[in-house]
Amino acid sequence: MTANLPYRHTDDLFIDGDWTPATGTGRTLVTNPATEEVWGSVPQASAADLDRAVAAARHAFSGWRALTPTDRAGFLLRLADEVEKRAEAISHTNTWENGSPVAESSRAAGNAASIFRYFASLAGLLETPDVRPFPDGSGETVVRQDPIGVCALIAPWNFPINLVVAKLAPALMAGCTVVIKPASPTPLSVRLIVDAAVAAGIPPGVINLVTGPGSFGDALVKHPGIDKVAFTGSTPVGRTIAGACGTLLRPVTLELGGKSSALVLPDVDLDALSKVLIRTCMRNTGQTCYISTRILAPAERYDELVDMVTATIAAAKQGDPMQPDTVFGPAATRAQEQTVREYLRSGVAEGARATTGGDVPSDFDQGFFVKPTVFADVTPDMRIAREEIFGPVLSILRYSSIDEGVALANNTSFGLGGTIFSADPDRAFALASRLDTGSVGLGFFASNHAAPFAGRHDSGLGAEFGPEGLKAYLVPQSVHRRIR
Ligand code: NDP
Repeated sequence: MTANLPYRHTDDLFIDGDWTPATGTGRTLVTNPATEEVWGSVPQASAADLDRAVAAARHAFSGWRALTPTDRAGFLLRLADEVEKRAEAISHTNTWENGSPVAESSRAAGNAASIFRYFASLAGLLETPDVRPFPDGSGETVVRQDPIGVCALIAPWNFPINLVVAKLAPALMAGCTVVIKPASPTPLSVRLIVDAAVAAGIPPGVINLVTGPGSFGDALVKHPGIDKVAFTGSTPVGRTIAGACGTLLRPVTLELGGKSSALVLPDVDLDALSKVLIRTCMRNTGQTCYISTRILAPAERYDELVDMVTATIAAAKQGDPMQPDTVFGPAATRAQEQTVREYLRSGVAEGARATTGGDVPSDFDQGFFVKPTVFADVTPDMRIAREEIFGPVLSILRYSSIDEGVALANNTSFGLGGTIFSADPDRAFALASRLDTGSVGLGFFASNHAAPFAGRHDSGLGAEFGPEGLKAYLVPQSVHRRIR
């Protein structure tokens, strides 16, 4: 299949409405993880480039915030249409950057458009007056919501479009302007979102795109012209950013790692579970923050469940991510492949049993492929049961009572996702409140743009999506007045 890749080797950054040459000297190479071909590159921005991008965003802020929410919503709706027009290029660039199977990346543009449209639909929320009487009746307060200002948006490589758009859409709707820094392995696909914004007529300076390594992200976080940071990525980097923002008293939203569980009840319908297993527990070759990578199985159905999970994973096709029927692609980077293999070795060393896969050579003579792996006989103390792996690895643990299953699900420093599988929907719903996690799926998992996505504990601070996600880009102002 011929790939639709509008960008390969680029020398520019998007600042103040133009693609403008970077003045930094370094370059970041973009590698196709399925073939190991270096097929693209981007410049590493200099400190002066960063200053220019932040200044452009600052300059554009007064005009953008002065528009009515309905006017800004109009821009978001046009942007959504323009993103959809670029769906194939977005999908192919994404797949060449991080190896996401095209069945997954082909959803990116539609999902991004849907996020823009959802936040556009919240214009009315910003336009509805919020007036609160003084308790003694002597006056009233009008609570206004101001956009927070210039926002730094920093994204990881696993969903390079949607994890930018999850920040960009509410920021734009709120009246903020932005400087975006994509992850180094995936710097090209997001350029297509910028192109869509230009075609939608978004004014110069409202959106700026700069590329550079993690140290450049650090400089962006600490730049004096930034009013808020929105970050998705690993927990260690999130802690560093939280520390910097704490010192600066700079608002920050952090969407971090996870180690979520699928709590399988004894009455489970295994056929139904097998149909959603990969999407729920190994989506995007296991490189999804909220997936339920620990399966908690009732002792009386343990063997049956291990057999079903093993057969389902072993039967799913791994290979060229550009083929529409590919389920599992490669790891996104060589470093990620090595990390996952290290976990596979640790699982075996600690006594887990690989029922399929393991640290074996892949079926391919090139690419960062790791065989999708299922570990049975996993115990809660093992590293594979406690730490985020971020690869195609499932651990199956055993429990004897519901209380023990709930305790196992909560036995983690993270609190991002989780799922419950039961034939009894009321029982599953009641059990959700016992899981100490920001989101729970009953019989499946999918995030909903209209509802908050919020990690607890080591999984983050604050929320994205829903009105809560919009509020993260607003600051209130209370205007008190006497009632005559
Ligand atoms: P990283 O934390 O390594 O990087 C994320 C982004 O931060 C990248 O753009 C990176 O740049 C940048 N960065 C690195 N160091 C710094 C720094 N000191 N200051 C500012 N920015 C910095 O994460 P990964 O890209 O490896 O992504 C995987 C992680 O993301 C997993 O832990 C996963 O769980 C998490 N994630 C969380 C989600 C959620 O919503 N909760 C969703 C998806 C992923 P560069 O690439 O140039 O190093």
